[in-house]
Amino acid sequence: MLKQKERGQLIVLSGPSGVGKSTVIAELFSQRENIHFSVSYTTRKPRVGEQDGVNYNFVSREEFEGMIARDELLEYAEYVDNYYGTSLKAIEEQLSRGVDVLLDIEVQGAAKVRSRCPDALFIFIIPPSFEELSRRLHGRNTDSEEVIAGRLEKAKIEFREIPNYDYLVINDKVSHAVAEIEAILTAAECRVENRTSILTQFA
Ligand code: ADP
Ligand code: 5GP
Repeated sequence: MLKQKERGQLIVLSGPSGVGKSTVIAELFSQRENIHFSVSYTTRKPRVGEQDGVNYNFVSREEFEGMIARDELLEYAEYVDNYYGTSLKAIEEQLSRGVDVLLDIEVQGAAKVRSRCPDALFIFIIPPSFEELSRRLHGRNTDSEEVIAGRLEKAKIEFREIPNYDYLVINDKVSHAVAEIEAILTAAECRVENRTSILTQFA
């Protein structure tokens, strides 16, 4: 059994709303150990089925602006009229215990993480086609036509950021997307700098 790594890997997953990030993450987490989902803070209202503290920490605009003022966020962004942000303390606690942390965040937030945490892994997830993205947003049945139109427009802008990511995963089938992410995480774990604890006995 390999010794637990000293520091966890920070993983950033971005992709347009409705591509299937939550679905893929749920499946990945059911298969993988030693990985923590960073529960973001948001001012958006919960969707049917979403739980406070599980999917998001749902807060008011005033509470969110308080966190910004106290510098408690690793990154934050405004996305379709709502704030979304990552608690620095919550992720640092996990990383320092050797646990990997996955952030499901949009492209502006990812750019901030890229400048603050250059060792993070950046993965972008796309649908097999733009039409399929629209179908999934409608099929989810959680957003109004106006909100869906806004999210589709936003998606076109987000796709332009793909060259800034390390890996591109296609969510045609959930199991394929999960297998691709598993492969990326396994390859990262095999990097020499992540295996220094086992190397000491060969020195
Ligand atoms: P996101 O978290 O990226 O906004 P969701 O996980 O909520 O997206 O998925 C949006 C919708 O697409 C949901 O109804 C989900 O069941 C569906 N979905 C996710 N992945 C796939 C897939 N590979 N094939 C078909 N439908 C999918
Ligand atoms: P949704 O409202 O569909 O749950 O999320 C909208 C977008 O916000 C998604 O692209 C999601 O990745 C992003 N998001 C969720 N949490 C955060 C966060 O903490 N920071 C940033 N920058 N984006 C987030």
